[in-house]
Amino acid sequence: MIEARNRVGGRIDTRTSKTWPLSVELGAWRLNKASDAVLLTRLASLGVETNPFAGRVFTGAAAATKTATATANTVGPAAVQTATQWAAEQPADSSLKTSLDKSGAAKSAASSDSDGLPGAAMLEEYLAFLSTVNGASDSALSSWYGAEGSPEFDRLVTGGFDTMITDALDGVHTSLSTAVVGISYSDSGVSLKLGTGESLKVDRAIVTVPLGVLQEGSIAFEPLLPFSHRTAIDAIGMGAVETVWLKFDKPFWSTDAAAWSLVGTDDDLTTWFNLEAVTGEPVLVGIVGGDAARRVAKLSDDQLVDSALRALAPFAGG
Ligand SMILES: Cc1cc2nc3c(=O)[nH]c(=O)nc-3n(C[C@H](O)[C@H](O)[C@H](O)COP(=O)(O)OP(=O)(O)OC[C@H]3O[C@@H](n4cnc5c(N)ncnc54)[C@H](O)[C@@H]3O)c2cc1C
Repeated sequence: MIEARNRVGGRIDTRTSKTWPLSVELGAWRLNKASDAVLLTRLASLGVETNPFAGRVFTGAAAATKTATATANTVGPAAVQTATQWAAEQPADSSLKTSLDKSGAAKSAASSDSDGLPGAAMLEEYLAFLSTVNGASDSALSSWYGAEGSPEFDRLVTGGFDTMITDALDGVHTSLSTAVVGISYSDSGVSLKLGTGESLKVDRAIVTVPLGVLQEGSIAFEPLLPFSHRTAIDAIGMGAVETVWLKFDKPFWSTDAAAWSLVGTDDDLTTWFNLEAVTGEPVLVGIVGGDAARRVAKLSDDQLVDSALRALAPFAGG
């Protein structure tokens, strides 16, 4: 196994510390019981703890009134369904935002208040959630391929996702901090050119680098990848997701909802998971995707904490 970074796991990125009550997952950790069944069985067989997560029932706080209301968001998913059904009948794909506007779904969502939260805010909440799943804002998300069928996460990995990686690599020779920069291939084998200047000949190679690496042309393929592959690599966008973990001495919140959302705000960190409801530990995890994730990634640690605490204030209930 040849790995460019100085650690294995890629976007599975578990951090542990004596001062934290549970493993911190900076990459993937939200799973779906049905679509990730094989993965969950594997984690269970390795003794990695996962916890049920109460899906899309969320406590929505309107930033203006600083009041939190527990509700299940049905307005947002219904509007997205209307928009994608409309888009399916169109001759060309468009962004989810365009389909929400042109189909009239955004307008009808805006007129359907729910549990004291305005319909427009419910749609905003659901779009923020979708961007944490797809890494794309509604203005970038495809109506044909992006929005519908996004999984609802109902299981969280809380016992160290990286155990699965280290177990899989047990006995496998692994070269860290070694980037592959060239791949020549034919029926008789594969030659790998490494960033260190060395070359390696192997019978077969499986390439699992991220799309962005292929788009940047960081690996020179000889011959070029098939035209259909290059077309697909060129056509697909890269998403962005950022995760913020905050640990508190004791809970400042009174809600036992596992998912929180702040609506009606310019702040970016609006989607939160309350791990106290899931694990008993006073830990909150903010997740942000798309344009908001790119903005959050540029904040300093201090700015990030300020932004997070501002977004969480309405949940303190005074
Ligand atoms: C913050 C965040 C949260 C996420 N949350 C979830 C979630 O909750 N649930 C979910 O299902 N998914 C989630 N995802 C997505 C999920 O993590 C990824 O889809 C998945 O881990 C990708 O796995 P992969 O093996 O395809 O790529 P990666 O995990 O990115 O692995 C690719 C590896 O290739 C290495 N590499 C790159 N270039 C080279 C080179 N030239 N030579 C050698 N090695 C190279 C990289 O260093 C990396 O280790 C999240 C992603 C992020 C970033």
